[in-house]
Amino acid sequence: MFDKFRDECGVFAIYGHPEAAKLSYLGLYALQHRGQESAGIAASDGKEIRCHKSMGHVAEIFTPPVLAGLDGVAAIGHTRYSTAGDTVLLNAQPFAVACNKGQVAVAHNGNITNAAELRAELESEGSIFQASSDTEVILHLVAKSRERTLPAALRDALLQLEGAYSLVFLARDRVIVARDPHGFRPLAMGQMELSGGRHAYVFASETCAFDLINAVYLNDVEPGEMAIVGPEGVIRQQFAPARDRAQCVFEHVYFSRPDSLVFGRPVQESREMLGRLLAREAPADADLVVPVPDSGVSAAIGYAAESGLPFRQALIRNHYVGRTFIEPSQAIRDFGVKLKLNPVRHLLEGRSVVLVDDSIVRGTTSRKIVRMVRQAGAREVHLRISCPPTLSPCFYGVDTPLRSELIAANHSIEEIRRFVEADSLAYLSMASLRRAVNDLDQEYCYACYSGVYPTDLVNIEELMSAKKRRG
Ligand code: AMP
Repeated sequence: MFDKFRDECGVFAIYGHPEAAKLSYLGLYALQHRGQESAGIAASDGKEIRCHKSMGHVAEIFTPPVLAGLDGVAAIGHTRYSTAGDTVLLNAQPFAVACNKGQVAVAHNGNITNAAELRAELESEGSIFQASSDTEVILHLVAKSRERTLPAALRDALLQLEGAYSLVFLARDRVIVARDPHGFRPLAMGQMELSGGRHAYVFASETCAFDLINAVYLNDVEPGEMAIVGPEGVIRQQFAPARDRAQCVFEHVYFSRPDSLVFGRPVQESREMLGRLLAREAPADADLVVPVPDSGVSAAIGYAAESGLPFRQALIRNHYVGRTFIEPSQAIRDFGVKLKLNPVRHLLEGRSVVLVDDSIVRGTTSRKIVRMVRQAGAREVHLRISCPPTLSPCFYGVDTPLRSELIAANHSIEEIRRFVEADSLAYLSMASLRRAVNDLDQEYCYACYSGVYPTDLVNIEELMSAKKRRG
């Protein structure tokens, strides 16, 4: 429910539409949940790439005059809440540069796990970096490549990267997108029909971005695949052999919108199934099922349907909470949570409640919410979590904190129950999580729940200290 750990990004790209920047704006608008810190769009009119980026929300950044300055039929966009790099405008994306391969802009979702080594090597050879984000490394590798064409230089660069990336590039006359060989982060491809039988092609982290602009989902960019879209149409090619798939399961548990297809699967279906399986594994003798909005809603619907208990929205979320607020000098207890959530007392008074949320990370927010429900009169609070205990940090683009801060890495479920002050606490099992996302062929990454990382993390110390620096 809290944005404080949110640390991902959303990417969008479009080629072949006269209003490319406007549609990118709408695409980013639909992807706003993937990052609220900064956003940017780079557009090309065939001669020049122009880029506008700023801190803040998509709707505030892209005013009509700003969009009017972003002409052209091709554009890429990004919405960000940092996974690497400090939270300053310098790190906002897309990054646009002019290099020996021409003008190029890039936007990235994921986390390059060997970025620090690559950067040190590049710096020792004379490269100068403006930002602390690992995405800039990619541009330097492209510039350094001896290949002459941009797609070949990109391939050259991508083959040196390790970790997670769904990337969108913009050149003056084309859009190129690529997904890492494990397919950690999503990247969907869609199509729009234009007059005269022409088509525009779009790419986005989630298909909810397509719905808003009436684009039709075609398929996913495959792990290790690159799609090049230009005047000659779409060319798709494997730039690297696909490795064992490692699609981020947390996209289905929490991160993506339920109205999206992610990895080709409806997120809503996974979430409802998570709730249903949770109800089977961890029933509760209660009067009603209450979600923690918004993250627990779909799973709570599944839990209620399976258990036969009534579903009630007894916590109401204020969706308009901004970055700045004024707190009275006399501190109000749990002010932050109260700003966002308020209980519906008459639904809770005297009732035994199943409270459903997607995860417990540090436990501090969950404790405040359990307290809030109890103070509103609930007789019992049974907390149900629609995934297994979060045991390990993510190095592939989700900002779970280090093990030392993950309550489940250091405490038993009974200890967590006591900490969050619930009458009972249960998590979903790994087997049920796999089942809920229909992972028949072991195509998902579960590292945050299992501690088993699908890639070698050579510089794990550096990755951990980067997380620590971000706090
Ligand atoms: P806490 O009890 O303090 O660990 O906070 C748990 C809340 O954090 C739950 O409501 C989750 O939905 C939310 N949460 C978990 N992971 C993330 C994440 N990566 N980004 C934002 N919120 C998250």
